[in-house]
Amino acid sequence: MNRYQAAYTIGFDYGQRNAVELECRARIRERLPVIAEWNGALEADRLVALDFLQGLGESALTSDRPIEAAGSGLPNTFVPGRNLMFLTVAAALAYKLGIRHIVGGMCETDYSGYPDCRDESIRSLQAALNAGMDSRFEIETPLMWKNKADTWALAENLGGDRLVDLVRWETHTCYLGDRTTKNEWGWGCGSCPACELRRDGYLAFRRKPAS
Ligand code: ZN
Repeated sequence: MNRYQAAYTIGFDYGQRNAVELECRARIRERLPVIAEWNGALEADRLVALDFLQGLGESALTSDRPIEAAGSGLPNTFVPGRNLMFLTVAAALAYKLGIRHIVGGMCETDYSGYPDCRDESIRSLQAALNAGMDSRFEIETPLMWKNKADTWALAENLGGDRLVDLVRWETHTCYLGDRTTKNEWGWGCGSCPACELRRDGYLAFRRKPAS
């Protein structure tokens, strides 16, 4: 955040079965600028409905289906085109607002098998958006090459324990939407693939020697 004078936020309602993700946004937006001691301005938030994604075919993230590997080798939590759609809509808004930098949290290091989190996908989309809108967008993905332990460490570097605690208690990861089971690393069932990544990353981060 310190790299920019102002930031706008955008969220997407794509019929995800864990609407709790959307509820987390307001609390994070409220506290993040205070905790991270950012001098820039946090501008308007936008929530965009992409609920048609749900109608294109089921995914375990947009229905109550159990989470498992699909025949394609991808997890059945994969929502085809989701991240591409998110970034395309964000770019359309950025175009209207005169914004050049679009920041997303995609990560290839432990990307859970999602091809639209890969750097190659993001770079290709950036090229397509720039050609299609005659623009010079830069899609920034600061988490791309970080594992989850590095991501926790990044939060600590940016805002100390207060930011780590904000991430712990106010962000959501669990595929099952569990916000009642309290763990050292935050809320979640503790056994779905998303919880496992979050937990293992947090524990690795805490085991790190102080630098
Ligand atoms: Zn879980």
